[in-house]
Amino acid sequence: MNNKRILIWHRNDLRLHDRKPIDRALKEKAQIIPFYCFDERQFKQTSYGFPKTGKYRAKFLLESITDLRNSLKKLGSNLIIRKGLPEKIIPAIAQQLNIDEVYYQEEVTSEEIAIEKSLKQALSQIEIKVKTFWGITLYHPDNLPFEINRLPELFTNFRKEVEKKSIVDPTFPTPQKLPPLPDIEIGEIPQLADFGLEEPVFDLRSVLQFKGGENEGIARLNDYFWEKDNLKIYKETRNGMLGSDYSSKFSAWLALGCLSPRFIYEQVQKYETERFKNDSTYWLIFELLWRDFFRFIGAKHGNKIFYLSGLQGLDILWKEDWKRFQLWQEGMTGYPLVDANMREIAATGFMSNRGRQNVASFLTKNLGINWIMGAEWFESLLIDYDVCSNYGNWNYTAGVGNDARGFRYFNIAKQSRDYDRHGDYLRHWLPELASVPGDKIHEPWKLSQEEQKRFGVIIGVDYPRPVVDFFKSVQDNEKIYNAATSSV
Ligand SMILES: Cc1cc2nc3c(=O)[nH]c(=O)nc-3n(C[C@H](O)[C@H](O)[C@H](O)COP(=O)(O)OP(=O)(O)OC[C@H]3O[C@@H](n4cnc5c(N)ncnc54)[C@H](O)[C@@H]3O)c2cc1C
Repeated sequence: MNNKRILIWHRNDLRLHDRKPIDRALKEKAQIIPFYCFDERQFKQTSYGFPKTGKYRAKFLLESITDLRNSLKKLGSNLIIRKGLPEKIIPAIAQQLNIDEVYYQEEVTSEEIAIEKSLKQALSQIEIKVKTFWGITLYHPDNLPFEINRLPELFTNFRKEVEKKSIVDPTFPTPQKLPPLPDIEIGEIPQLADFGLEEPVFDLRSVLQFKGGENEGIARLNDYFWEKDNLKIYKETRNGMLGSDYSSKFSAWLALGCLSPRFIYEQVQKYETERFKNDSTYWLIFELLWRDFFRFIGAKHGNKIFYLSGLQGLDILWKEDWKRFQLWQEGMTGYPLVDANMREIAATGFMSNRGRQNVASFLTKNLGINWIMGAEWFESLLIDYDVCSNYGNWNYTAGVGNDARGFRYFNIAKQSRDYDRHGDYLRHWLPELASVPGDKIHEPWKLSQEEQKRFGVIIGVDYPRPVVDFFKSVQDNEKIYNAATSSV
């Protein structure tokens, strides 16, 4: 070790495996100072007044930080923790500890970039160097066959090019030992109450008891791939909605960087060599490419992913109908598939990909409600919230994204039959419909008076009548959509 000190600012990279900044600092034989800042802005409100970081994700974040600190301690180091504004706190610590350089992982969206800019300015005034690293995606931008500003707008074109011409870099080794920290106040890990949040009560109906941290993420991977051998059937099960194993559930660990996508990639390769190689093993990587795609689209288009008019710049006449929005939030629309999913996210902070597509389609294509309200509600609740995946997928589903395929909607009753054939998922989340048998549960408004009595559910009393007529509302909103596209 020489006398050089490098502060490593942890952001959405809460792990020790596959960390380029740590690897680089160790190669420089520098003393590493790991640092994390709970940014108070992340605990304010979204533009529509929802907590920006709700209780589920906040808890997962606190667990991830605890895990990172424990891992660092085992290696002989520790994690310095503060609460406040990183662009103010980092320069102060840098001066206090005579830091030579600050390393951190780059983000691509406006709030994060603004912070990076102020930090760089403050550090340059005190002549401290900054190095930034790319670490979020499976493919490094340097390995893409195009510049980010020439990224294909359609996922399929992106994927085909990347699969043909790009390579995934190998992971960086996990450090085995780290130097101790100099004398400094280490800082306590805050409690949920410090952010005005209550401890979430674990709901036994949840798909999984998500626990934050690198070790938990790796344990989930081991369980899903190696213990239960689920990877080999992923493609057939991934559209499910019930239970822990229909999909990987890696998203929350990926979002905070507790798991590296390249580590997952290497584990898939190992699985393909040691167990099976089939469409399912490929498909998990295919899905990780969606994640990459939205991240690079965020980098290419900047703030446009947050605009109401979206990536396509469509001035659609969206409604801000709070009464109906509330019915959607609470799972009281009268469409069981929508309601079950909305109750799941509210009670657990998670929803399947199938569910997310359906509820987002219903909000935008049936209720015609401003998609940003939906995206912010997801931002608040999701354990796995990732800015680019969330806003990218909402752009896509709302029809303002870069897929120029016009007005497309999900037929909710058909989706319900296709993906929850026996209605098990609906009964799991909608106790008032629990005794509606067989296929009838998908469209409870069609129950006769006599059936309603027999099954113990009076529509309009025990379970809501549909908030809108399905096909009429689709037609109305298609007209509004077409009016916007024809004026572009
Ligand atoms: C409206 C909407 C909002 C969404 N918001 C988020 C979000 O905030 N954060 C988030 O991680 N995902 C988001 N998704 C994508 C997807 O629903 C989740 O990644 C997935 O459900 C997580 O479950 P899993 O890890 O079991 O996925 P798996 O099916 O096991 O997939 C493996 C991984 O691939 C990635 N992935 C899969 N599908 C997508 C996709 N459509 N877009 C981007 N990445 C994908 C995820 O990292 C996921 O962990 C959203 C989708 C929709 C339709």
